[in-house]
Amino acid sequence: MDTLFKSRFERILERIEKAKLRAGREDEEIEILSITKNRSSKQIQEILDLGLKKLGENRVQELVEKYPSFLDRDVSWHMVGHLQRNKVKYIARLKNCVMIQSLDSQRLAQQIEGEMKKEGRSIDVLIQVNIAHDPNKYGFLKDTLPQFFDEAQNYRYLKIKGLMTILPYTKDPEEVRPFFKEIYSLYQDLKEERIPGIEMKHLSMGMTNDYEIAIEEGATMIRIGSALFETIK
Ligand SMILES: *Cc1c(COP(=O)(O)O)cnc(C)c1O
Repeated sequence: MDTLFKSRFERILERIEKAKLRAGREDEEIEILSITKNRSSKQIQEILDLGLKKLGENRVQELVEKYPSFLDRDVSWHMVGHLQRNKVKYIARLKNCVMIQSLDSQRLAQQIEGEMKKEGRSIDVLIQVNIAHDPNKYGFLKDTLPQFFDEAQNYRYLKIKGLMTILPYTKDPEEVRPFFKEIYSLYQDLKEERIPGIEMKHLSMGMTNDYEIAIEEGATMIRIGSALFETIK
Protein backbone atom coordinates (compact mmCIF):
# COMPACT_ATOMS: atom_id res chain seq x y z
CA MET A 1 0.00 0.00 0.00
CA ASP A 2 1.14 3.51 -0.79
CA THR A 3 2.11 5.11 2.53
CA LEU A 4 1.20 8.57 1.28
CA PHE A 5 -2.40 7.52 0.81
CA LYS A 6 -2.36 5.98 4.25
CA SER A 7 -0.97 9.05 6.01
CA ARG A 8 -3.32 11.42 4.21
CA PHE A 9 -6.24 9.22 5.19
CA GLU A 10 -5.13 9.03 8.81
CA ARG A 11 -4.89 12.78 8.94
CA ILE A 12 -8.44 13.11 7.63
CA LEU A 13 -9.71 10.60 10.21
CA GLU A 14 -7.98 12.49 12.97
CA ARG A 15 -9.58 15.75 11.89
CA ILE A 16 -12.97 14.13 11.65
CA GLU A 17 -12.61 12.79 15.20
CA LYS A 18 -11.61 16.21 16.51
CA ALA A 19 -14.52 17.92 14.76
CA LYS A 20 -16.92 15.31 16.16
CA LEU A 21 -15.55 15.90 19.63
CA ARG A 22 -15.97 19.66 19.33
CA ALA A 23 -19.56 19.13 18.27
CA GLY A 24 -20.35 16.48 20.88
CA ARG A 25 -20.99 13.95 18.12
CA GLU A 26 -18.46 11.29 19.23
CA ASP A 27 -20.97 8.48 19.00
CA GLU A 28 -22.21 9.29 15.54
CA GLU A 29 -20.88 7.83 12.36
CA ILE A 30 -19.85 10.26 9.64
CA GLU A 31 -19.75 8.58 6.26
CA ILE A 32 -16.93 9.41 3.89
CA LEU A 33 -17.69 9.52 0.20
CA SER A 34 -14.44 9.42 -1.78
CA ILE A 35 -14.72 11.66 -4.80
CA THR A 36 -12.80 9.95 -7.57
CA LYS A 37 -13.41 12.30 -10.50
CA ASN A 38 -10.30 12.78 -12.61
CA ARG A 39 -8.47 10.03 -10.67
CA SER A 40 -7.07 6.92 -12.31
CA SER A 41 -8.09 3.33 -11.60
CA LYS A 42 -4.73 2.84 -9.92
CA GLN A 43 -5.38 5.74 -7.55
CA ILE A 44 -8.86 4.41 -6.83
CA GLN A 45 -7.36 1.03 -5.94
CA GLU A 46 -5.32 2.78 -3.25
CA ILE A 47 -8.49 4.25 -1.81
CA LEU A 48 -10.21 0.86 -1.73
CA ASP A 49 -7.18 -0.62 -0.01
CA LEU A 50 -7.74 1.87 2.80
CA GLY A 51 -11.15 0.31 3.34
CA LEU A 52 -13.17 3.07 1.72
CA LYS A 53 -16.12 1.65 -0.18
CA LYS A 54 -18.25 4.56 -1.28
CA LEU A 55 -17.11 6.37 -4.39
CA GLY A 56 -18.50 9.50 -5.98
CA GLU A 57 -18.30 10.78 -9.54
CA ASN A 58 -19.66 13.97 -11.06
CA ARG A 59 -19.86 13.00 -14.74
CA VAL A 60 -21.89 10.14 -16.19
CA GLN A 61 -19.39 9.37 -18.94
CA GLU A 62 -16.53 9.01 -16.49
CA LEU A 63 -18.57 6.83 -14.15
CA VAL A 64 -19.61 4.55 -17.01
CA GLU A 65 -15.98 4.18 -18.08
CA LYS A 66 -14.62 3.40 -14.62
CA TYR A 67 -17.45 1.20 -13.48
CA PRO A 68 -16.40 -2.13 -15.09
CA SER A 69 -12.93 -2.06 -13.46
CA PHE A 70 -14.45 -2.34 -9.99
CA LEU A 71 -17.25 -4.81 -10.60
CA ASP A 72 -15.59 -7.50 -8.51
CA ARG A 73 -14.92 -5.14 -5.60
CA ASP A 74 -17.23 -4.32 -2.73
CA VAL A 75 -17.93 -0.73 -3.80
CA SER A 76 -20.92 1.47 -4.31
CA TRP A 77 -21.05 4.52 -6.54
CA HIS A 78 -22.78 7.82 -5.96
CA MET A 79 -23.52 10.40 -8.63
CA VAL A 80 -22.75 13.84 -7.24
CA GLY A 81 -22.69 16.08 -10.32
CA HIS A 82 -25.41 17.71 -12.38
CA LEU A 83 -27.25 15.00 -14.25
CA GLN A 84 -28.81 15.61 -17.66
CA ARG A 85 -32.12 13.90 -18.16
CA ASN A 86 -31.04 12.09 -21.32
CA LYS A 87 -28.22 10.42 -19.37
CA VAL A 88 -30.27 9.01 -16.52
CA LYS A 89 -30.70 5.72 -18.40
CA TYR A 90 -26.96 5.05 -18.24
CA ILE A 91 -26.97 5.48 -14.48
CA ALA A 92 -30.04 3.26 -14.14
CA ARG A 93 -28.15 0.38 -15.74
CA LEU A 94 -25.30 0.48 -13.21
CA LYS A 95 -26.49 -1.71 -10.36
CA ASN A 96 -23.72 -0.58 -8.04
CA CYS A 97 -24.66 3.04 -8.51
CA VAL A 98 -26.91 3.25 -5.50
CA MET A 99 -27.40 6.95 -4.99
CA ILE A 100 -27.92 10.15 -6.95
CA GLN A 101 -26.98 13.03 -4.66
CA SER A 102 -27.63 15.70 -7.25
CA LEU A 103 -31.38 15.67 -7.71
CA ASP A 104 -31.90 19.29 -8.70
CA SER A 105 -35.26 19.52 -10.47
CA GLN A 106 -38.69 17.98 -10.63
CA ARG A 107 -38.22 17.08 -14.29
CA LEU A 108 -35.07 15.16 -13.44
CA ALA A 109 -36.96 13.34 -10.68
CA GLN A 110 -39.64 12.27 -13.15
CA GLN A 111 -36.99 10.97 -15.54
CA ILE A 112 -35.25 9.00 -12.77
CA GLU A 113 -38.55 7.49 -11.67
CA GLY A 114 -39.28 6.37 -15.24
CA GLU A 115 -35.84 4.94 -16.00
CA MET A 116 -35.59 3.05 -12.72
CA LYS A 117 -39.01 1.58 -13.29
CA LYS A 118 -37.79 0.27 -16.67
CA GLU A 119 -34.79 -1.31 -14.95
CA GLY A 120 -36.98 -2.75 -12.23
CA ARG A 121 -34.96 -1.36 -9.35
CA SER A 122 -35.12 1.64 -7.09
CA ILE A 123 -32.44 4.21 -6.34
CA ASP A 124 -31.79 6.46 -3.37
CA VAL A 125 -31.54 10.18 -4.03
CA LEU A 126 -30.58 13.25 -2.08
CA ILE A 127 -32.18 16.56 -2.90
CA GLN A 128 -29.56 19.08 -3.87
CA VAL A 129 -30.41 22.37 -2.21
CA ASN A 130 -28.87 25.60 -3.39
CA ILE A 131 -28.92 26.97 0.11
CA ALA A 132 -26.56 29.85 -0.67
CA HIS A 133 -28.61 30.99 -3.71
CA ASP A 134 -25.41 30.68 -5.70
CA PRO A 135 -26.20 31.56 -9.35
CA ASN A 136 -23.39 29.23 -10.48
CA LYS A 137 -24.80 26.17 -8.75
CA TYR A 138 -27.66 23.80 -9.44
CA GLY A 139 -30.18 22.75 -6.85
CA PHE A 140 -33.61 23.51 -5.50
CA LEU A 141 -34.13 26.79 -3.78
CA LYS A 142 -35.48 26.19 -0.31
CA ASP A 143 -38.83 27.85 -1.01
CA THR A 144 -39.58 25.55 -3.94
CA LEU A 145 -39.29 22.34 -1.92
CA PRO A 146 -42.87 22.08 -0.57
CA GLN A 147 -44.21 22.12 -4.13
CA PHE A 148 -41.75 19.39 -5.13
CA PHE A 149 -42.71 17.24 -2.14
CA ASP A 150 -46.37 17.23 -3.21
CA GLU A 151 -45.27 15.46 -6.39
CA ALA A 152 -42.44 13.42 -4.88
CA GLN A 153 -44.70 11.49 -2.54
CA ASN A 154 -45.96 9.53 -5.55
CA TYR A 155 -42.60 8.16 -6.61
CA ARG A 156 -41.97 4.47 -6.08
CA TYR A 157 -38.59 3.89 -7.70
CA LEU A 158 -36.95 7.10 -6.55
CA LYS A 159 -36.38 7.07 -2.80
CA ILE A 160 -35.68 10.39 -1.18
CA LYS A 161 -33.18 9.91 1.63
CA GLY A 162 -31.97 13.36 2.55
CA LEU A 163 -30.32 16.57 1.42
CA MET A 164 -27.08 17.53 -0.25
CA THR A 165 -25.49 20.90 -0.80
CA ILE A 166 -22.42 22.31 -2.51
CA LEU A 167 -21.32 25.62 -1.07
CA PRO A 168 -19.29 28.28 -2.82
CA TYR A 169 -15.54 27.96 -2.33
CA THR A 170 -14.17 30.58 0.04
CA LYS A 171 -10.63 31.08 1.18
CA ASP A 172 -11.84 31.17 4.75
CA PRO A 173 -14.40 28.36 5.14
CA GLU A 174 -15.81 30.05 8.25
CA GLU A 175 -17.64 32.32 5.82
CA VAL A 176 -19.92 29.48 4.76
CA ARG A 177 -20.73 28.24 8.25
CA PRO A 178 -24.10 30.09 8.25
CA PHE A 179 -25.17 28.11 5.17
CA PHE A 180 -24.30 24.82 6.85
CA LYS A 181 -26.40 25.93 9.81
CA GLU A 182 -29.28 26.89 7.56
CA ILE A 183 -29.43 23.60 5.68
CA TYR A 184 -29.08 21.62 8.90
CA SER A 185 -32.09 23.40 10.31
CA LEU A 186 -34.04 22.67 7.11
CA TYR A 187 -32.98 19.01 7.38
CA GLN A 188 -34.17 18.82 10.99
CA ASP A 189 -37.47 20.54 10.19
CA LEU A 190 -38.17 18.10 7.36
CA LYS A 191 -37.23 15.20 9.58
CA GLU A 192 -39.78 16.34 12.16
CA GLU A 193 -42.45 16.96 9.54
CA ARG A 194 -42.39 13.28 8.57
CA ILE A 195 -43.74 13.84 5.07
CA PRO A 196 -44.77 10.44 3.69
CA GLY A 197 -42.15 9.12 1.29
CA ILE A 198 -39.60 11.77 2.23
CA GLU A 199 -36.98 10.29 4.50
CA MET A 200 -34.29 12.47 6.08
CA LYS A 201 -31.43 10.11 6.86
CA HIS A 202 -28.44 11.73 5.16
CA LEU A 203 -27.13 15.26 5.10
CA SER A 204 -24.30 15.33 2.58
CA MET A 205 -22.17 18.45 2.95
CA GLY A 206 -18.53 19.40 3.36
CA MET A 207 -15.58 18.89 1.02
CA THR A 208 -11.81 19.11 1.44
CA ASN A 209 -11.93 22.80 2.20
CA ASP A 210 -14.68 22.79 4.79
CA TYR A 211 -15.51 19.28 6.00
CA GLU A 212 -14.59 19.98 9.62
CA ILE A 213 -17.05 22.87 9.78
CA ALA A 214 -19.66 20.73 8.02
CA ILE A 215 -19.27 18.07 10.71
CA GLU A 216 -19.54 20.66 13.46
CA GLU A 217 -22.79 21.81 11.86
CA GLY A 218 -24.38 18.39 11.46
CA ALA A 219 -23.17 16.66 8.26
CA THR A 220 -23.77 12.91 8.21
CA MET A 221 -21.76 12.42 5.04
CA ILE A 222 -18.75 14.35 3.75
CA ARG A 223 -17.47 14.25 0.19
CA ILE A 224 -13.70 14.21 0.02
CA GLY A 225 -11.57 14.39 -3.11
CA SER A 226 -8.37 16.40 -2.95
CA ALA A 227 -7.52 15.65 0.68
CA LEU A 228 -7.37 11.93 -0.16
CA PHE A 229 -5.46 12.15 -3.40
CA GLU A 230 -3.19 15.15 -3.00
CA THR A 231 -0.88 16.36 -0.30
CA ILE A 232 -2.30 19.64 0.89
CA LYS A 233 -0.29 22.02 2.99
C1 LIG B 1 -15.22 17.44 -6.61
C2 LIG B 1 -16.35 17.37 -5.70
C3 LIG B 1 -16.17 17.14 -4.32
C4 LIG B 1 -14.81 16.99 -3.68
O1 LIG B 1 -14.08 18.15 -3.72
P1 LIG B 1 -12.67 18.31 -2.99
O2 LIG B 1 -12.58 19.74 -2.70
O3 LIG B 1 -11.65 17.83 -3.95
O4 LIG B 1 -12.71 17.48 -1.75
C5 LIG B 1 -17.30 17.05 -3.53
N1 LIG B 1 -18.54 17.18 -4.04
C6 LIG B 1 -18.77 17.39 -5.35
C7 LIG B 1 -20.16 17.52 -5.84
C8 LIG B 1 -17.68 17.50 -6.22
O5 LIG B 1 -17.90 17.72 -7.53
